[in-house]
Amino acid sequence: MKKIQMVDLVSQYEKIKPAIDSAIMDVLQSTQFINGAEVAGFQKELELYLGVKHVIPCANGTDALQISMMALGLKPGDEVITPSFTYIATTEVIALLGLKPVFVEVNQETFCMDASKLEAAITSKTKAIVPVHLYGQAADMNAVMAIAKKHKLFVIEDNAQAIGSDYHLLDGSLVKTGTIGDIGCTSFFPSKNLGCYGDGGAICTNDDLLAEKLRMIANHGQSKRYYHDVVGCNSRLDNIQAAVLRIKLRQLDNYIDARREVADFYDAFFGAIEGVKIPFRADDSKHVFHQYTLSLDGYNRDGLNEFLASKDIPSMIYYPVPAHRQKMFEEFGSASTDLPITDWLTHRVLSLPIHTEMDLEQLEFITKTAAEYLTLKK
Ligand SMILES: *Cc1c(COP(=O)(O)O)cnc(C)c1O
Repeated sequence: MKKIQMVDLVSQYEKIKPAIDSAIMDVLQSTQFINGAEVAGFQKELELYLGVKHVIPCANGTDALQISMMALGLKPGDEVITPSFTYIATTEVIALLGLKPVFVEVNQETFCMDASKLEAAITSKTKAIVPVHLYGQAADMNAVMAIAKKHKLFVIEDNAQAIGSDYHLLDGSLVKTGTIGDIGCTSFFPSKNLGCYGDGGAICTNDDLLAEKLRMIANHGQSKRYYHDVVGCNSRLDNIQAAVLRIKLRQLDNYIDARREVADFYDAFFGAIEGVKIPFRADDSKHVFHQYTLSLDGYNRDGLNEFLASKDIPSMIYYPVPAHRQKMFEEFGSASTDLPITDWLTHRVLSLPIHTEMDLEQLEFITKTAAEYLTLKK
C-alpha cells in the first residue's frame, strides 16, 4: 500500500508531469518571471471558471485578505466580524491593519459562521463581515448577505478552502463561492484544492471600481508607472506559479469529484457509528472537501488521533486553538468572548486524510483501523 498522507502532491504531480514540466521550462526560457503571459492567461481563465468580472492575482491568501480590507478603506478602530474557528490568517490581517476582530460563534453542523448570532455582534463601529468557507463548506451566505445589506456592511469571503464550490442564491441562481460578497479571497498554497508549487493567492470582485483599487494596492498603490496614489504593498503571483495553476485549474472539477468520492466512502462508514458525526452536507451548496472533518462526541478525539498515528495514518486537528484564545489577540480581551461551540469543536474535531489520489486500499485500511479504536474505546 502506498504511504498514507494528509495530501499526496507527488502522486498528483506525476499524472500531470509532462504538461507542468514543459510549462515551467517555457517560463524559464522566456525569463519573464513577473507579470508574464501566464499570469494574464490564468487571470482570464479563473474569471471564466468562477463567473466573476475581475480576478486580481496576488502573492498569497493572507495578502488577498489584507489588500481587500485596505481597498474597502477600513480604518484603525473599525470592527470586522469573523469566526474564531478558522485558520489564523483570516483574523490576523484584521489586527495587522489596526482593525478590531470581533469573533462570532460558528454553527455546530457546518463549522461556519452562525448567521443567527451576527446581528448581536454588530455595533456602530462594524464595517465588514468575513465569513469563512471552512473545510470546503460554504458559509450561510444568503443569511450573511441579507444582514450585511440591512446594516450596510462589506462582505469579504475567505474562500481559501472552498474554491470551486457552488452556492444557490435565493433568486435561484447558482454561483461560485468567493463571488457572492463584495470581495472573495483565495489561496493557492500547495495543499489547497487548487494549489500551486509555492505561494499564490487571488482576489475577486464584480465591482469595477473596487477591482481597480485592489489592483493598485497590490502593486505599490501605483496608478501608472512610478506614480503612487495610495499606500499599497508588493503582492504578485509569479509567472511560474501561474503556469502551474493554469494546468491545475483545468483539473479542478475532477479534483473536487475525487475528494467528494473519498468523502462518500468515509460517510458510509463513519455515518453508521454512534457518537461520530460526519460532515454536514447542505442543500444549498456543494461541499468541496478541502478537509474531511469528523466531530467526535462519544469518543476520545486525541486517543483516536494517536491510535491512527501508531498505525502510520496521519490525522490532523484543524484547529487546536481558536483565534479568540490566541495570545496574539490578548490586547483585545477576546479570550473572554463566550463561544462555547467554537471551544467545544476545538476539542472534538479530527480531520482525516483526503486528497485527489487516494485509493480504495488506503481508504479501507483507514476505516478498518479507525473501527478497531472506535469499537474498543467507546
Ligand atoms: C490557507 C488559508 C489562508 C491563507 O492563505 P495563504 O496563502 O497561506 O496566505 C487564509 N484563510 C484560510 C481559511 C486558509 O485556509
